Amino acid sequence: MDKYDVIIGLEIHVQTKTNSKMFCTCNSNYFKDEPNTHVCPVCFGLPGALPVPNKRAIEKCILLGLATNCDIDNEIHFDRKHYFYPDLPKGYQISQYGRPICSDGYVMVNGDTKIEIERIHQEEDVAKSTHHKEGGLDYSLIDYNKSGVALIEIVTKPCIRSAHHAKEYATKIRQICRYLDISDADMEKGQMRCEPNISLQEKGKWKQEGSRILPIGDYKLNSKVEVKNIGSITAVEKSIEYEIERIIEELEKGNTIEQQTRGWNADKNITEFQRSKETADDYRYMPEPDIPVIDISEKDVERISKELVELPDDKAKRYLETFELSEYDIGVLTAKKEISEYFEKVVELLSKNITDIKEAAKLSSNWITGTLFSISNEMGLEISEENIQIEDLVALIKEFKEKTITKNKAEELLKKALEEKKDLGNLLDDFKKTKEESSGNLEDTVTAVLDENKQAVEDFKNGKQASLGFLIGQTMQKTKGSANPNDVKNILLKKLNE
Ligand code: ZN
Ligand code: MN
Repeated sequence: MDKYDVIIGLEIHVQTKTNSKMFCTCNSNYFKDEPNTHVCPVCFGLPGALPVPNKRAIEKCILLGLATNCDIDNEIHFDRKHYFYPDLPKGYQISQYGRPICSDGYVMVNGDTKIEIERIHQEEDVAKSTHHKEGGLDYSLIDYNKSGVALIEIVTKPCIRSAHHAKEYATKIRQICRYLDISDADMEKGQMRCEPNISLQEKGKWKQEGSRILPIGDYKLNSKVEVKNIGSITAVEKSIEYEIERIIEELEKGNTIEQQTRGWNADKNITEFQRSKETADDYRYMPEPDIPVIDISEKDVERISKELVELPDDKAKRYLETFELSEYDIGVLTAKKEISEYFEKVVELLSKNITDIKEAAKLSSNWITGTLFSISNEMGLEISEENIQIEDLVALIKEFKEKTITKNKAEELLKKALEEKKDLGNLLDDFKKTKEESSGNLEDTVTAVLDENKQAVEDFKNGKQASLGFLIGQTMQKTKGSANPNDVKNILLKKLNE
């Protein structure tokens, strides 16, 4: 490992969240719909059909460029990228070649590592083929619902140096897309696809110029390997780690690495050889003659930039400065925009009672990133006002803070509210009512315990603090654990001091 540098570049495709497809008016929300029901002559690629660019898709592509510190071109050029495949009926994909809409951007990962983005361009998705073997038949089917859906491609420079950073970067891109509602970027639904390329070069024998890796002296560069079929963010990291080890092994054996495409097998946690590439693909790019060049003015960019919201990095910085929360808590709270909004509403309401904003934030964060997060996660629920209302969670936190409810009991109510879809406020009211009713009884129980344990009372009055614990224990036993130990303690102290 010490002998080699790892060089990773990442290509990410995200499906833009728009009502219609990139170049036709077909509904782009096809998830779970019957195959070939969202189609027209344009996305079927029929001869003579004319593409009309989707304005909203282009705006969202520009928005992503702005959020990732890119330069935005003032003209939009589309090109045809030719290749043949059954899922590409036209024989070419409308994409962008020489002039991507956005270029030369970056995002930060792990706080201080800059991942440079070479380009972000607009294109269209292709159809989906599935392969079947049944009843002695071996055949493929094609569903064109996905064909022509707006697709954004984001390409980094070969500047990523570890599997971990690649994962962090992919996470950041997904987060930004979701924060800005550019895409749901759900990898399971194929709305986001990551394709890393990896090469290992001997230390000191190569250099990077822009997006190019060049040899120093007569060093012969090792070819890069591309990995496809990655279905989750975790698999981005795992597949790269696997490739790094595999390549080192090959190099140590004295083998050369041939340029190739490999697929990630998530069941076996390995990459598998798919095809070798001896020469670079020749796509015969040419300008798309059916779409005129589109002007993007500074005013357009300014208008689109109004859609920018506070992004995860800025939000994290603000949480650290204003609330002094831990890195872990901030990570959980800013992972999704919806969670951060929920958290901020809780803090705002809670701070009407707890004026120290840091304390209010810490308490809110504890309850949200702790109990609420773990129960919701377990049940596959989102943290939302629909599931737990802000005012109810705040009421619960207040009771907990005033020690009128134990942590266990509070967690129990929260769990019950989520599991049985009950209103937390009602559960809390019920709890308080029962508690009031039983507090009369509790006084009687305490009196009985004091009568039964005269020696312990005597000991306590003579300064033996441990006796108090004993008396609390006796009372708890009598109530079969239903009383709040804190209430028991208060009543005991009151009576002992009478
Ligand atoms: Zn269509
Ligand atoms: Mn592409």
